[in-house]
Amino acid sequence: MKNADCIFCKIVDKKIASGIVFENEKILAFKDLNPKMRVHYLFIPKVHYDSLAHIPPQEMAVMSDLYAAIKQVSENEGFAQSGYKTQINTGRGGGQEVFHLHVHLMAT
Ligand code: 5GP
Ligand code: ZN
Repeated sequence: MKNADCIFCKIVDKKIASGIVFENEKILAFKDLNPKMRVHYLFIPKVHYDSLAHIPPQEMAVMSDLYAAIKQVSENEGFAQSGYKTQINTGRGGGQEVFHLHVHLMAT
C-alpha cells in the first residue's frame, strides 16, 4: 500500500532522490536530510504504515525486518562495536513529523 502524498513513499519509488545506504526486498535506508549525528540514517519499510501505532498485530514482523537491516548496516559500516542508537518517534506527541514509519539510526 502506498500513500500518494507521502514523501517517504516517493523515496521508495525513487521519485525523490535520497542518499540510499541499504535496500532489500522489504526495507530501504537513506541519509536523513538534517543529520543530528555524524551517521544519521532512516530505515523504512517499503510498505506504508503511518507509524508504529498503525502496524496491524499480524504484520509486526516488519519491526524485525527493520532491526535486522539496522544490524547489518551497523556491522557493514563498522560502528556496531563502538555503538549506536535507534529512535522511533510515534505520533505528534512523540515528535513524529513524517507519517511513514521509520527508525532513526545514529552514530558518532
Ligand atoms: P520524525 O521526526 O518524523 O521522526 O523524523 C523525520 C525525519 O525525516 C527528520 O529527521 C527529517 O530530517 C527527515 N526528513 C524529512 N524529510 C526528508 C526528506 O525529504 N529526505 C530525507 N532524506 N529526510 C527527510
Ligand atoms: Zn509512505
